[in-house]
Order: sequence, then structure tokens, then C-alpha cells
Amino acid sequence: MTSEHVKCLIIGSGPAGYTAAIYASRANLGPVLYQGAQPGGQLTITNEVDNFPGYPNGVQGPQMMQDLEAQARRFGTDIRYGMVTRVEFVDQPSPGNPHRAIVDDKHEITADSIIISTGATAKWLGLPSEMRLNGRGVSACAVCDGFFFRGQDVVVVGAGDTAAEEASYLANLCRKVYMLVRRDEMRASKFMQKRVQTAPNIEILFNTETEEVLGDDDVTGVRVKNAVTGEERILDATGFFVAIGHKPNTDIFQDYLELDGHGYILTEKGSTRTNIPGVFACGDAQDNIYRQAITAAGTGCMAALDAERYLVTLEMQDEEIVH
Ligand code: NDP
Repeated sequence: MTSEHVKCLIIGSGPAGYTAAIYASRANLGPVLYQGAQPGGQLTITNEVDNFPGYPNGVQGPQMMQDLEAQARRFGTDIRYGMVTRVEFVDQPSPGNPHRAIVDDKHEITADSIIISTGATAKWLGLPSEMRLNGRGVSACAVCDGFFFRGQDVVVVGAGDTAAEEASYLANLCRKVYMLVRRDEMRASKFMQKRVQTAPNIEILFNTETEEVLGDDDVTGVRVKNAVTGEERILDATGFFVAIGHKPNTDIFQDYLELDGHGYILTEKGSTRTNIPGVFACGDAQDNIYRQAITAAGTGCMAALDAERYLVTLEMQDEEIVH
């Protein structure tokens, strides 16, 4: 196993990670950033981002991530393709006793400070038929896969803003979109609810749960059940899009960091400090509430500033020991 030491390791490459990288590199922390399995994070599977300040005409999600990456590189961030597969955090880190991370099970990095910006991943319903047909009509990303269902009928599961966005996007491509809402109301913002309710080719089915995704090799339909009446019916559809929220990518940290009941990293109020000195968390990995690109970027900035201040203290402690 190869080994190296860095002052600042950033794990993850969404708006939080890249913003942390911009600030950390400008503060001379020499950050090394590992991009993870999905370089650029969730925004690379988003189309138009209209609500990020500074883009009066909106921007495509992948373009914004490329811009952020280029900006981080401009200040010298060492951006690498790779996945941190394991970490070992120490309770009382010091220059002689740093935190440790293993990349792709073959490269060891010891780090004086670590910024976690691993984001979150789409959730699945957990049905065997959904798993079996994943990639063969079952998807969690309309923007990535909607193109393949042009002129066809599809189903979207979920009732939040993501589901409403996915349904609206698909409505522009597909003949008909069924939206399956498990309760008698939607969680999405009023604006997004209106958008799906007024689209002529979106049919919202309330109190409706998915029993099974049908099809041998590809999706051919969806068996659904009305939770109130118990009535079952089959919707003819070739695409099944799941948009029921996200799970934070924090499994590798669970032995060391305090997490909430949903797996989000707990940070000290008003900061990005975790329960381990020198380990900071930003973006969707620690944000169960806002989960926006702009808030992720904001907390990425905070994490770099917190790391910089921490490193100054660490260096001062080291000098005191030496003198
Ligand atoms: P949410 O957690 O807001 O919504 C998840 C939805 O999925 C809920 O309606 C939930 O139903 C439903 N659901 C969960 N599990 C199941 C299940 N097993 N079967 C059927 N339905 C299920 O997640 P989102 O990803 O939609 O949004 C996350 C955050 O991001 C929100 O704060 C949202 O506002 C924001 N967002 C903002 C956007 C924007 O501003 N442009 C775009 C997209 C997201 P129930 O309501 O019954 O719990």
C-alpha cells in the first residue's frame, strides 16, 4: 500500500467539496480532494439549476460542477478520481498521530484535517422487482434516463419536490406520466404541486403504493394498490422512476462520528465541527433540512475556514511541544 501525508483531505466533490477546496487552497492548506463514485455529485444528474445566485439565466448542473472544479484547480487543489473506502479517526489527533483514510483499498493518506462532503444518494423502495429491473426501465434519475422513454408512458414514485421535478421533466418527453403519491397530499412546494397538477399529461394517483414493477427483461407495467380502498390496478408503463428522497453517504464514518437517526453527520451548532477534532462535515452529508446547492457550498466554505483555524491551533501546539 502506498502512503502519503496531507494537511487537508477533502472527501467528495459536489458544491460543498469544491467550495471547501477553493477556500482551502487559497488558504495554502494544499488540499487533496477525492471525487468519489460520482464526480461532481448529485448536480451532475440535474438539468437546469435556476436558484443558484449569480446565474440570472440559470445554469446546467453538470456545467456548474465543471466550473466549480476548474475554479478549485485554478488555486492548486489536487483533484483526484478515487473513492475513500475506509477511515480511521483518532480521538486526540496531533502531528504525530493523524487521522487516516484509505483510498480504493490501496492507498493510505494520513491527514491533519479532513473535510467530509460525501453528499447523499437516492433511495429505493426496496422491492425485489425494482432491483431486478434496475437499469432496464427502473431509474432514479429522469434527466439521465428520460430520453429513452420519449413518447412512452412512465411512472414516477414520490411526492416531494424531486418527484415533482422529475415528473415535470418527463412530461415534456413522454406521452403520459403517472405520479404515485402514498398519502392523500403531496409534500412538494405549492409551486411544484401546481406545476404537476396543471400539466395535461401528468395524472396524480393519491393514496397509491407500488406493489410490483412488472416485466421480464424490461419494465412493461406497474401493479399499484390504493391504500384506502385496497383496490389494485396495473398501469401500463415502460419506465419506473423512483424519487423518494436520499440517504447520506456516511456509512464509512459511522464507527467514529456521531450521526442522527437517518445517518446525517451531527455537527456543532453554527460550525462544521464533528465530535472528532480535525474532522469537519459539510453539504448534504450533514444537512437533513436545506439540501440545496447553495447551502452545500456555504457549509463547504465554513468547513475550510474551520479546518484552517484548527490547523493553526494544531501547529501552535506542535511548536509548544518542540520548544
Ligand atoms: P423529500 O424527503 O422532500 O420527499 C420524499 C417524498 O418521497 C415524500 O413525498 C415521501 O412521502 C415519498 N416517499 C418516501 N418513501 C416512500 C416510499 N417508500 N413510497 C412512496 N413514497 C415515498 O425528498 P425530495 O428529494 O423530494 O426533496 C429533498 C429536499 O430537497 C426538500 O427539502 C426539497 O424541497 C428540496 N428540493 C428542492 C428543489 C428545488 O428547490 N428546485 C428540487 C428538489 C428538491 P411522504 O410525503 O408521505 O413522506
